[in-house]
This record gives sequence, C-alpha cells and structure tokens, in this order.
Amino acid sequence: MKILVINCGSSSLKYQLFDMEKENVLAKGLVERIGIEGSQIKHTKTGMEPVVQVTAIPDHKVGIKLVLDSLLDKDHGVLSSLDELTAVGHRVVHAGEKFATSVRLDPKVMDALKECIPLAPLHNPANIMGIEAVTSALPNIPQVGVFDTAFHQTMPDYAFMYGLPYGYYEKYGVRRYGFHGTSHYYVSHRAAEILQKPVEKLKIVTCHLGNGSSITAVKGGRSVDTSMGFTPLAGVIMGTRSGDIDPALINFIAQAENLDVKEIDGMLNKKSGMLGLSGLSSDLRDVEDAASRGEPRAKLAIAVLAYGIKKYIGAYAAAMGGLDVLVFTAGIGENSATIRSRVCDGLEFLGVELDQEKNDVRSKEAEISTVGSKVRVLVVPTNEELVIARDTKRLVANR
Ligand code: ADP
Repeated sequence: MKILVINCGSSSLKYQLFDMEKENVLAKGLVERIGIEGSQIKHTKTGMEPVVQVTAIPDHKVGIKLVLDSLLDKDHGVLSSLDELTAVGHRVVHAGEKFATSVRLDPKVMDALKECIPLAPLHNPANIMGIEAVTSALPNIPQVGVFDTAFHQTMPDYAFMYGLPYGYYEKYGVRRYGFHGTSHYYVSHRAAEILQKPVEKLKIVTCHLGNGSSITAVKGGRSVDTSMGFTPLAGVIMGTRSGDIDPALINFIAQAENLDVKEIDGMLNKKSGMLGLSGLSSDLRDVEDAASRGEPRAKLAIAVLAYGIKKYIGAYAAAMGGLDVLVFTAGIGENSATIRSRVCDGLEFLGVELDQEKNDVRSKEAEISTVGSKVRVLVVPTNEELVIARDTKRLVANR
C-alpha cells in the first residue's frame, strides 16, 4: 500500500510517499514559493540526490500536479502509474472541537474544516487548498485529515478554559486548543515503546522545541494539558513568538508605541521570542554561537527559554501527580544538548538526573538520563508524517 502524505502551507507544500509494507519513505520533497516569483520543486527519491526544478507554480493545483509528475518521472520517480497510490493523508492544523481523531475527508468534513477557518486563519485555508488540489487531480482517491489539535481534545475543561466571560467560549470557541498534537502523540507513545512500558501507566512530559515550541502533559497516553493555547502564540518563548505574556501589556504597548491591534499581533508573532530578546536571530544555533562568545542578550534569551521550559515541566508534574518520562523532540529538542542540560539542571528534586555524556547526542533516539534516574529522559526524533501515513492506512482499510 502506497500513501502520499501532504503538509500544505500558504506558499509551500511538503510531501512524502510511504510504502506502508515496511513504512519506508520512497520519495519526498518540497514545493516552495507557490504564487511567488522564483517558485520551485525539490524532489528526492530515497537514496538519490535531490533534483530541483525551478518553474512557475501559480497555485496549489499546479504544485500538486508537479508532485504527481515527479512521483511518475522515469528517472527520479517511484511510481509507474498513479493507480498505485492508495490514499492521501493531509496535515490539517485546526479542527476546533469538531474532531478528536483523524477522519476520512468528505464534503461534510470539509464544511466542518471551513467552519474552523476563523480559529486558524493563516493555516486552515492553505490546508484546504491542498486537499482541494488533490481532489481535482485525483477525484476518486480516498483522503484523510490528521489534525494538530486532535490529540489535545482529551484535556479536561479546567485545563482548557480561560478565565474570561463564558459566553466567548460558547459564541466563538475561545479556549485552549493546543497544537503539535501529532508530534506529542508520536513521541510520547514511541517513548513508551522504547522503554517497553505500557503508555497507559506513564506520566510523560513531551517538549516539542522547534521554531514553534510546545510542552504537553501526557498521562496514560492522553494529553491532559499543553502550553500552546487558542493559538500557537502561547507557552514558552519561540523563534519569533513571545509565548506567555501579561495580557495587559497589549494595551500598554499599543499606547506607548502607538500601534494598532494588527501591529501588536505582528510584533508578538514575528519580532519577539529568541529574536526579540537576543536582537540577533530567531535561530537557536546563531543565538548559541553568540552566547558562547559572551553576548549578554544571547545568554539571556537562552536562559529565558530554558527557565520557561523547566517551569512547564514542574507545572505538568504537579498536574499529573508525578513524572516518569521526559521527552525532547523537534529541531532544538533533538539537537541542542545545551538546552536539554539547562532545562534538566535543578530538576533533581523531581527525580531527573541527566547523564552529560549520553546527552551529547543529535537527531537520534537515545536515553540521556543516568542509570539511576527516577525519571527517564529521552530524545525521540518526531515523525508526524509517519503518524499521518498510519492513520490514513487505518482509516482507508476500515471502509
Ligand atoms: P519547525 O518548528 O519550523 O519545524 P524545527 O523543528 O526544524 O522547526 O526546529 C528549528 C529550530 O531547531 C531552530 O531554532 C534551529 O536553530 C534549531 N536547531 C536545529 N539544529 C540545531 C542544532 N544543531 N543545535 C541547536 N539548535 C538547532
């Protein structure tokens, strides 16, 4: 069974083609700058060098056609006919409270996703365009939606409600939703597998630390709290996002700097976090380099990030009544020994003991706690595409 996984953004589209027999990736690629000058597709057949084709890609339909053509290409392709494709799985950012699991896409589901656009005005329209582009290229192929918010639908109401007038929840769906759900699901369940323990018995905190970062409390395999909120702006500081702030600051800065709501939103999303604090870069590698040269604001940005993550871990240990496993994933979590070490430093009272030598690891599954550590600390590279492919396979087989 061959399944195509698509992650569609407003001007980009990532894809991976899985052979589900052994769950291996046959080909993958990236369509960039859709609708912008200089658009291109970079396609990689597993085991071969990437091929880049610079060509006009005015919309997602043309992008999908190029993906399908690349999969069929006689030199770099992996399919002899599109009939070999069984199904297509899509990453969709927001399903509101409508879906707590992945679903087969049909016109009713598409209407529900369109209703969620106000909750994710930047992301859902792009995801929907990707689905519609596949529908027009392959009208009969089964398609599945896998939602970033779904895994967090198990949060109890006291964890997802804000202290705002209740009517906003009823009228607009104002509540904490959480994001990166597919990643938190994958790494928490994979951690249990690695430790050979039933996930139902574990209290796990998963730290997905990338350009966007979120921390999740996973109790018995289910999300019970998460650091992102109504939008992906909440939680710890990120590359360019502020994370949690005092809400009264919005009014204060608006007045002091004469900014309107849109400008404030832009500042919180694009000019804050690592970039805003360090004044240098949103990329942790640059900030770590500057910190090692003694740059005070780079050191401060790293300290704020590590302290923020540590506080969430403490809070979630309290929320779950204990902690068995701590997992690091995504760009920073998988690669930065410094951040992992700074986060764990001081958590000995919870039973976290990092082995500094084992912590010197990058981009691979590893246990980095000492043999005696009560809390097992793991690095687990995330694999959202694999979850999407598996869910797609399961939902297609069920029909
Ligand atoms: P996204 O959220 O866009 O998927 P990623 O998960 O790829 O982002 O994470 C990007 C972040 O990971 C960047 O801040 C980058 O600096 C960081 N990162 C990647 N490699 C390293 C590394 N070797 N050391 C430190 N940080 C790294």
